[in-house]
Amino acid sequence: MAGQKKVLGTYGAGSNHWVGDGFPVRNLFPSNGLEAEVNPFLMLDYAGPTLFKPSGKTPGVGQHPHRGFETVTIAYQGAVAHRDSSGNAGVIYPGDVQWMTAASGVVHEEMHEQEFARKGGIFEMVQLWVNLPKADKMSKPGYQAITKEQIPVVKFASGGHARVIAGELNGTRGPAHTFTEINVFDVILKAGERVEIALPEGHQAAIVLRKGDVSLNGGSALTGEARIATLGVSGASVTIEAKQDSTLLVLSGEPINEPVASYGPFVMNTREELVQAMEDYKAGKMGRLQ
Ligand code: MN
Repeated sequence: MAGQKKVLGTYGAGSNHWVGDGFPVRNLFPSNGLEAEVNPFLMLDYAGPTLFKPSGKTPGVGQHPHRGFETVTIAYQGAVAHRDSSGNAGVIYPGDVQWMTAASGVVHEEMHEQEFARKGGIFEMVQLWVNLPKADKMSKPGYQAITKEQIPVVKFASGGHARVIAGELNGTRGPAHTFTEINVFDVILKAGERVEIALPEGHQAAIVLRKGDVSLNGGSALTGEARIATLGVSGASVTIEAKQDSTLLVLSGEPINEPVASYGPFVMNTREELVQAMEDYKAGKMGRLQ
């Protein structure tokens, strides 16, 4: 029997800051120095929940590049309008997920959707960065606009559920195409509910608490908002027990055991590749927004 994945540590937000003027984020990693514990994931920002007043301006983050990884935006409240240099554009509404493969490079902007900005309201999103293997870092950029309706729901016996965004849970597969084996489950548990979630042996994993109070494997607690527990590669499940109604993200992935060199929006394998990325961006090789 493979047993349960051991909880390596629990952490609160390691950094609170604004991304542009649209995303007030609590960063769970890498700010906590968790790089080795969350591989193949690189970054997780939890934006909001924050009330934005009605405004004639659309806040957000203006055009900027990415190379070498994927950005995954999960919308909970509010709406984000996105467009990129590959010609992809769209609005991410509550329940939707945008899975953008920057790979060899894109330039994009991420703004509050105009109508949402005009009316105002609560804004809540998660942005997760997923590393790409060396062999795929310079592949063609991609874009998966995954709507709420496309995400299958696995119901638990006691009232909660998991939306399977990527990977597989209890035989249900999520719609996201991924380059390495990854699970991303968006989980809601009711107070008093206890579920065992299967996560592959060999995957590193993390439980992100948006809000609530849970204990893991009968021990470690995550309580409040914006907290994370990291789980080791050994073992093949985690038990989550909710003391209160709780909203969570469950992440797991096969670690990518290659060198990581990162600088801002670029995540490559060597310093030389970072220098190249900056030169290519400046030379317009990642394209332009039309
Ligand atoms: Mn971006």
